[in-house]
Amino acid sequence: MRQKEISLNIRPIKPLDEEFDDDHLLTNWETPMRADAFELDDEEKINRIETHFREIMTTLGLDLNDDSLNGTPRRVAKMFVKEVFSGLNPKNRPHARLFENKYKYEQMLVEKDITFYSHCEHHFVPIYGKIHVAYFSSGKVIGLSKINRIVQYYAKRPQVQERLTVQIGKEIERVLSTPDVGVVVDANHMCVASRGVGDTNSKTGTAYFSGKFKDENTKREFLNYINSK
Ligand SMILES: [Zn+2]
Repeated sequence: MRQKEISLNIRPIKPLDEEFDDDHLLTNWETPMRADAFELDDEEKINRIETHFREIMTTLGLDLNDDSLNGTPRRVAKMFVKEVFSGLNPKNRPHARLFENKYKYEQMLVEKDITFYSHCEHHFVPIYGKIHVAYFSSGKVIGLSKINRIVQYYAKRPQVQERLTVQIGKEIERVLSTPDVGVVVDANHMCVASRGVGDTNSKTGTAYFSGKFKDENTKREFLNYINSK
């Protein structure tokens, strides 16, 4: 899969503190959750979703007595709770171990081409693509696999791409205690490709730049690296 050039034209999502000074708007970047979100345990959630999904399939006219369809409601319920939406539960948030940056590496660190699979919260169909993350260390470094885990954690929620982008950026800032983070998300939306306008080629780019990444040269260095082979 050849990636389209990511240019400086992608509209950066401004860091919150700049765009808004009104506190309640900050929650825009948080996944809207109910106060009682975790009162039911996973097993109870799976049981309820199974019941409801069986109802959806039956309403569609499917015969649930068929061998091939019979196990689907429970399979879907487990997949929702334990896999594709497991990032809703804060108990699954990755714990990042930090290391002292003893090599005094002060350049930009980039992790590119992190594959992610998420779901569009408007249609519950996949959004997938690549995420590129860059940061300047504030004296601490993180195991590279942890960046990947942070990406997967936020991807495993019903999402809109803009929110996913900011949530990853904010979490990397927090975990690494650095104000200098860049995130670029290059995604395919199945709700655009397989239905509606049926455009199979368009990709959606979003970016989050904070601190040093707001500087044009730094941003360019990051984007050039992403675009290099
Ligand atoms: Zn959608």
